[in-house]
Amino acid sequence: MFHTAEPKDILEGRITDVYFDRTVKILEAKKINKRVKAEFIAKNLPENWPWAVLAGVEEAVYLMKNLPVKVRSMKEGTVFYPFEPVMEVEGAYKDFCVYETALLGLLCQASGVATKAARYKKLAGERPVISFGARRMHPILAPMIERNAFIGGCDGVSVLKSGEIIGEDPMGTMPHALIICFGSTVEAVKAYDEVLGPEVKRVALIDTFLDEKFECLNVAGALGERLYAVRFDTPASRRGNFFRILQEARWELDMRGFSHVKFYVSGGIKEHDITALNPVVDGYGIGTSISNAPVIDFAMDIVEVEGKPFSKRGKWSGSKRVLKCHGCGARKIEPLSTAAFTCSCGKTFEDILVPLLDNGRQEMESDLAAVIRRRVMEGVKGLDLE
Ligand SMILES: [Zn+2]
Repeated sequence: MFHTAEPKDILEGRITDVYFDRTVKILEAKKINKRVKAEFIAKNLPENWPWAVLAGVEEAVYLMKNLPVKVRSMKEGTVFYPFEPVMEVEGAYKDFCVYETALLGLLCQASGVATKAARYKKLAGERPVISFGARRMHPILAPMIERNAFIGGCDGVSVLKSGEIIGEDPMGTMPHALIICFGSTVEAVKAYDEVLGPEVKRVALIDTFLDEKFECLNVAGALGERLYAVRFDTPASRRGNFFRILQEARWELDMRGFSHVKFYVSGGIKEHDITALNPVVDGYGIGTSISNAPVIDFAMDIVEVEGKPFSKRGKWSGSKRVLKCHGCGARKIEPLSTAAFTCSCGKTFEDILVPLLDNGRQEMESDLAAVIRRRVMEGVKGLDLE
């Protein structure tokens, strides 16, 4: 068996830390049933990220839609900052207490993946960034990871099932194993060209046996105009100066009339590599860095009890509004009771923490993955990465 939970385990509150289960028992025994509001915030972001992208909301809705709670949330794909509540759940504490573990897990991991993807996409600009990292994580999570990589900014995903979930065709090139089975890069690429339909772009992997420059020329000679791109997955032990390898291969291809052949790179590409490689690269395959993105450390904390502000040390009590100015983009966290006011730039503020669920009624519909992705692209425009 796989060592994973069934969806019903999550929905029935069995994926919970035992202390919540004990808390419910005690509250019931002592007949304490307080109505509370609890908010989700991150006080810090990993790796000193200045901002992050909220994801996992659709799954949080799936979890909470049968609970007697009211939820306000930022829309999935919204950019948020430390200390901003991204979600608030209101209800009898014992009705949702056992879901804290699962809700945090849904938001923390999805938001980490989406944010990492957004950062890569910003660095790569127009160049496609494809999610290749499913293989590094438990397969049961692959569609979740790739869906969030896509909404964060990846242009494509590699796993069949992930493609189905986001409504996009999966993308990929060829593995080294195919080339090894043929014993020759050129023979493998010719077979790829013969067997696969025209909808599949001809992208040849060129680092299996020989020097990249010569294999580029070999496959370009074999496929000519039909060769769309070559992929460099050069092993780290052979990489030396990766930029110079790419630059030289580009030169040699251009000299021989193959300037239409694009360059894709993959294999441990880090954020700081992207800016350096952009001048000679047309697309990136990013694996572990996105699929194993750092999680966002959201915490869920009670901020209001029976209508009164009340919270633990280190948390700002009270239900809050998160406001964003239509004009200058300024953001404010205000008590929920604050009346509307105008930004110093003269424009009005918009509430970005908005009603999501009311006792099972969904007040904000879920968007298609492509729509959420556009929201992220728009939201991160002009933001710095540090
Ligand atoms: Zn303003």
